[in-house]
Amino acid sequence: MNETKNINHCLNCNASENEMPLVNLVFAGKPAFICSSCLPVLIHQPQKLIGKLEGAEKISPAKHDH
Ligand SMILES: [Zn+2]
Repeated sequence: MNETKNINHCLNCNASENEMPLVNLVFAGKPAFICSSCLPVLIHQPQKLIGKLEGAEKISPAKHDH
């Protein structure tokens, strides 16, 4: 039995769910996946995801106080 499974990939670095833990998110009504190492990019530098995540230009970066 060959069951074909859809393997999800990180929207930023394209790592597969077999290589990295992927976080499932929904944005603009669409599901997306991002790996744990790219999650900080989404949080602090969402502008880097423009062109990779639809609508990324609308995300405001989280404020962080050091
Ligand atoms: Zn990634």
